[in-house]
Amino acid sequence: MTAGTIEPMIEGTAAELAQALAAGEISSVELTQACLDRIAAVDPQVQAFLALDGERALARALMIDDQRAAGATLPPLAGVPVAVKDSFTYTGLPTTCASRILDGWLPPYNATVVQRLIDAGLVIIGKTNLDEFAMGSSTENSAFFPTRNPWDLERVPGGSGGGSAACLAAAEVPLAIGSDTGGSIRQPAALTGTVGVKPTYGGTSRYGLVAMASSLDQPGPCARTVLDAALLHQVMAGHDPMDSTSIDQPPPDIIAAARSGDVKGLRIGVVEELGGDGYAPSVVRRFQEAVAALTAAGAEVVSVSCPHFHQALAAYYLIMPSEASSNLARFDAMRYGLRVGDDGLNSVEQVMRLTRGEGFGPEVKRRVILGTYALSAGYYEAYYGSAQKVRSLIIDDFNRAFEQVDVLVSPTSPTTAWRLGERVDDPLAMYKADLCTIPSNLAGNAALSVPVGLSDDDHLPVGFHIMAPPLCDDRLYLVGAAVERAFPPLRPATDLTRPLPGAAVKGSQA
Ligand code: GLN
Repeated sequence: MTAGTIEPMIEGTAAELAQALAAGEISSVELTQACLDRIAAVDPQVQAFLALDGERALARALMIDDQRAAGATLPPLAGVPVAVKDSFTYTGLPTTCASRILDGWLPPYNATVVQRLIDAGLVIIGKTNLDEFAMGSSTENSAFFPTRNPWDLERVPGGSGGGSAACLAAAEVPLAIGSDTGGSIRQPAALTGTVGVKPTYGGTSRYGLVAMASSLDQPGPCARTVLDAALLHQVMAGHDPMDSTSIDQPPPDIIAAARSGDVKGLRIGVVEELGGDGYAPSVVRRFQEAVAALTAAGAEVVSVSCPHFHQALAAYYLIMPSEASSNLARFDAMRYGLRVGDDGLNSVEQVMRLTRGEGFGPEVKRRVILGTYALSAGYYEAYYGSAQKVRSLIIDDFNRAFEQVDVLVSPTSPTTAWRLGERVDDPLAMYKADLCTIPSNLAGNAALSVPVGLSDDDHLPVGFHIMAPPLCDDRLYLVGAAVERAFPPLRPATDLTRPLPGAAVKGSQA
């Protein structure tokens, strides 16, 4: 890698960039500046970032360069730029969760995973767009503007973490982090041809991640390769006393697994229920090719039934809104961000009502209403209680399956990226995008999406989904690396620097 050649530099993987930094071939300041230049050129079209932090990023990059020049031993990813989903707190920049209710709120502390990025010498470039409070599958629910898919700017990048996935696909940064409640890291990874991981629940700290559904939320890495995801996962993982659900146990050796990719003798189960009707034939074709590649690499592939997965979506859309309605009660106009109608005449209740009415978008309101209803005294057992029973049945399905196989696999998303606007008036069609990803959140196990090439018909990325038992995240990387060998990462050929003719630009939905 030659210093000063900007294009190849930002196209590199995080592992390659880290090596070039360590060898003194490039500096972190050059690399950070190259990312900022690329963002300036393409982000007016892609619209992945809600906020940039160029000055502080360059100052940190300079600090890392100086430490390296002084001969300090630095952590493996020191000096590599990273983007952070705007659902994590990071002091000095607003944390908005893409919601008007938090517009301009400056957090007084760093999320644990953000602090770990800083401690590991990574350079935080800015905050990425998401569906408001991470509710959605297309990033169109952002209160500010939708993010676009770098493979086709007229299509969605998935969601809720569309910003983190799109900025990787558009080569704006080499790494990003996200949060996954029902698929928000993995489904955007699938739709943008990138890698996304939901670690085992409790494997990464939720402290400083704005809570949506606390029993499902999990921070995780977003990257362009399986090894890069493992390197970032390693930085984020580990026990945190600030999160009562954090697991006090060292994570498995995910980096060795990502480097090995040896699946000889590994037992892989294809989930019967995650296929068939509603799955695009072009997605199924790539999925089957990936399964064939794993067989060729020496894995034993069998078909496994998880009969209650059909009910996962229904259970999720009771549990998730129930927890979210309770978590979002804290946005009461008194403590954070927006306050509407505080004229000295309105009562506290009126100010709360006005603020929540204006501050929350339609999807958030829909879920708060749904969740409040599901938790109300007369219906609690019928709705929330039943959903929790289904959750137990899904966990039983996983447990039985993992007695027979080491990992389970499925497509990540039933379809490739759809057109902007196509599903906005059809929440159920939007919810179905997460059919394959939701079971792992309900069970708390680990899951990863890795690209398996492009669909034959629309030439858009297809994702392959791997699910492993809790605390066996290393298996994800083993299988992910094997799949990646058969389907090397692809990059979009779209000219992202050309302004979109007559298209909506940032702020158009604001
Ligand atoms: N798309 C799912 C939802 O809308 C998942 C969101 C997420 O993982 N944050 O709830």
